[in-house]
Amino acid sequence: MSEYNTYEELLAAITDDSGQEVKNPATDEVVGSYRVGSVADVNEAVAKARQAQAEFAKLSDEERCDLLLKAADAVEAAAEPLAQLLSREQGKPLNGPNARFEVGACSGWLRATASFEHPNYTAVDDDITAKVHYRPLGVVGAVGPWNWPMMITVWQIAPALRMGNTIVVKPSEYTPLSVLALVKVINSVLPEGLVQVVTGDGEVGAALTAHEDIDKIMFTGSTATGKKIVESSADNLTRVTLELGGNDAGILLDDVDPQAIAGDLFWGAFINTGQTCAAMKRLYVPESLYDSVIQALAEVAENSPMGVGTEEQNVLGPLQNHAQFEIVDKLVKAAKDSGARVVMGGDPDYDAPGNFYPTTLVADIDPDNPLVVEEQFGPALPIIKYTDLDWAIEQANKLDVGLGSSVWSADRERAREVAARLEAGTTWINSHGAVDPRVPFGGIKSSGYGVEFGTEGLKGLAYPHIING
Ligand code: NAD
Repeated sequence: MSEYNTYEELLAAITDDSGQEVKNPATDEVVGSYRVGSVADVNEAVAKARQAQAEFAKLSDEERCDLLLKAADAVEAAAEPLAQLLSREQGKPLNGPNARFEVGACSGWLRATASFEHPNYTAVDDDITAKVHYRPLGVVGAVGPWNWPMMITVWQIAPALRMGNTIVVKPSEYTPLSVLALVKVINSVLPEGLVQVVTGDGEVGAALTAHEDIDKIMFTGSTATGKKIVESSADNLTRVTLELGGNDAGILLDDVDPQAIAGDLFWGAFINTGQTCAAMKRLYVPESLYDSVIQALAEVAENSPMGVGTEEQNVLGPLQNHAQFEIVDKLVKAAKDSGARVVMGGDPDYDAPGNFYPTTLVADIDPDNPLVVEEQFGPALPIIKYTDLDWAIEQANKLDVGLGSSVWSADRERAREVAARLEAGTTWINSHGAVDPRVPFGGIKSSGYGVEFGTEGLKGLAYPHIING
């Protein structure tokens, strides 16, 4: 049983009627209002987190894991109200790999994080006994984006707590309610002061990440903001983990069956209506399969309804905000102007409510077109024809980002050989973007540094204290 049985009860617990309104990006209707935080709130929250951390660090690893499991139960008990709120604020549909899926991932990740092997170990032989203890860093400052607001917040909170840190979270100004609600639910079972939220824009985010009493910054968002955060971290030498943007390539080999892979290929690109860091953002297809792949993708797209998130049949939603709509629109227009072929979509209804951009497939496109080389972060996939696999690999590697990539083939070994030549944090085979709490995830180049998830991820929230002898 949850304290919050309905979406209305949950919203009432976090809303502030005199605050800033949040609108549903599918309908333009007001979802709720929240109190916008300030730099003074950041200072207060960090001081409180520091105080709470001293006591929290005294708990055993088992006790901390137990708190994570309780938090997972609380999220699970309030899953439907959380999903209803997420759908209204973020825009993503309840069904498909969207709002209910995201809330399910939150409880799943909390539980999984309690199950990882602790990183402590002993290096021992006849000459030495060195015990490596991973100690808490202290207070974590976490800043997040608007695309998967609840799940990414859990990716920050869960490992921070497991390793004995307290955390102050600054959600995106586009999705504050989702994070306020999630933390409200989690805090119903946690001691006070371990997890706090301060809302606000980039200025509030900057106050948190530049704060001298923050020991670790976890940032998920754009590369441009990531660079600013690194600059401001220099004064305090604050440790930073950066999960930034990507422009993931998918490469099909010439032995795939287009019909058989079309569903996974489609969702690899269009999960969360394309607003996913590690979504497939450009697809390279051999000439021999080009037309049949496009046709198979178009069939899946036609059977994947887009609309208001709370209508149960929909699996694709609007862009979360108008600025993102404009980015996608501009890139598709540039592709059209260059002579690329719009197979479907590309014609948004500017007068309709919401930020809906139709599912768009663009073929016969120049490999250097902006829709290919810039991150679109929306439902518009460029499909590039190739005749030489080496050329396709070169294209995949030539950009200054490297979050994910994928290789698709009927022959897994052949796919693995191609995968080994790709430059990315993760290369999937016959799927794209599936993350797992046990498997490290992170980017290279301008997609960031540091990893999250699993025991590797836990090490990023602790420092090794070696007792040698
Ligand atoms: P963004 O960088 O505009 O904003 C992210 C957060 O940073 C927001 O909370 C914002 O208020 C805050 N912020 C802005 N300026 C700041 C500053 N100077 N100091 C501190 N904080 C500041 O990114 P976005 O538009 O919200 O997110 C989309 C981007 O995030 C895409 O590029 C996407 O690929 C990336 N992303 C990456 C991952 C990953 O795991 N690698 C996951 C999701 C999204």
